[in-house]
Amino acid sequence: AKVWTLARQPKGEPTRDDFACKEEVLPLCEDGDVIVEAVCLSVDPYMRFKLCSISLNAAMMGEQIARVIESKNSEWPVGSHMLVYVGWRTHTYLSYTDLRDTDKSVQQLPDLGTLPKSLGLGILGMPGNTAYLAFLEVMHPKPGETVVVNAAAGAVGSIVVQLAKLAGCKVVAFAGSDEKVAWLKEVGINHAFNYKTVKVGDTLAQVAPENINIYFDNVGGKFTSEVLPHMATHGRMLVCGVISSYNDDMMSSAVISPLSEYMVMRKELIIKGFVIYSWKHRWESSFRQMKKWVDEGKIQYHETVVQGFSNMPYAFTGLFRGANTGKVVVVP
Ligand code: NDP
Repeated sequence: AKVWTLARQPKGEPTRDDFACKEEVLPLCEDGDVIVEAVCLSVDPYMRFKLCSISLNAAMMGEQIARVIESKNSEWPVGSHMLVYVGWRTHTYLSYTDLRDTDKSVQQLPDLGTLPKSLGLGILGMPGNTAYLAFLEVMHPKPGETVVVNAAAGAVGSIVVQLAKLAGCKVVAFAGSDEKVAWLKEVGINHAFNYKTVKVGDTLAQVAPENINIYFDNVGGKFTSEVLPHMATHGRMLVCGVISSYNDDMMSSAVISPLSEYMVMRKELIIKGFVIYSWKHRWESSFRQMKKWVDEGKIQYHETVVQGFSNMPYAFTGLFRGANTGKVVVVP
């Protein structure tokens, strides 16, 4: 078995050398236990700020879809698939107790029919649930409203823009390359822009002058300071992520948000934070609805598949270079 561990705390943007791959010998599979093999693994932006809470040489955290390859547990026969939070590992020993451990959050992979299993880490998993619940159930979009989304071709953003369109909203999407913008246009998002080659504020002044009703923010920082002046009075902002500051020391007073309190006051804005893990009780219903829309072709998905367990750090650091369109999954 192989496992990626944290070799040193990254300074700024993480690099390959911040991680080390180690060999592990697994215990024998005894009564009640199983051994699973990773089928695909997730890398996600939150891992960057979680790094400061794990010790050096500890295994990297994260979710994977795994197949049972050895079993002495009738609930988990060989060949069954699970979603499990065991980190960057090729193979994992799970005791009877581990299988009930809430930290490892072992659950059966829902039936995805003919869809790829990897979608259980993306549009039909945590990022899909985030988009669905944060946008539809927290922001309550209404037809005709104007919605702005950044990191709009990423795992969460690419779903939010399509949900906004389904809800009858006017969508303005920003992403970091012309290829991402082309993909957004392919899925019907006409107002899609490369924020690296246009000025966000000027673009909004043209396409949505002072009439943004919902700002779905995955990025934070300077981006937000450019969006706020264009918010409508009583506009709503959902703080989903702050990826532009994850490579800073998040706990340090040096990270001062450029969010303008003056704008919040003058435009009477409503700002809502969101953490998907507080919404676990709603995952099943959001999964059912998202699966239906994917099956009906109403929502499209894109995956960036990185081959090889040795490329886990590369897949992870790519999130900060904008290397992905849609959800990144690693196939070992
Ligand atoms: P993505 O698939 O969107 O990947 C990250 C993307 O962020 C990159 O592709 C890049 O896109 C963009 N990006 C990276 N660095 C920067 C930067 N410095 N400034 C601007 N954009 C940058 O990731 P996810 O969809 O998984 O996550 C998106 C956001 O949502 C993250 O902030 C994440 O932490 C958050 N999130 C929050 C959850 C919650 O419960 N609150 C749950 C899940 C995710 P581009 O090329 O367009 O720049």
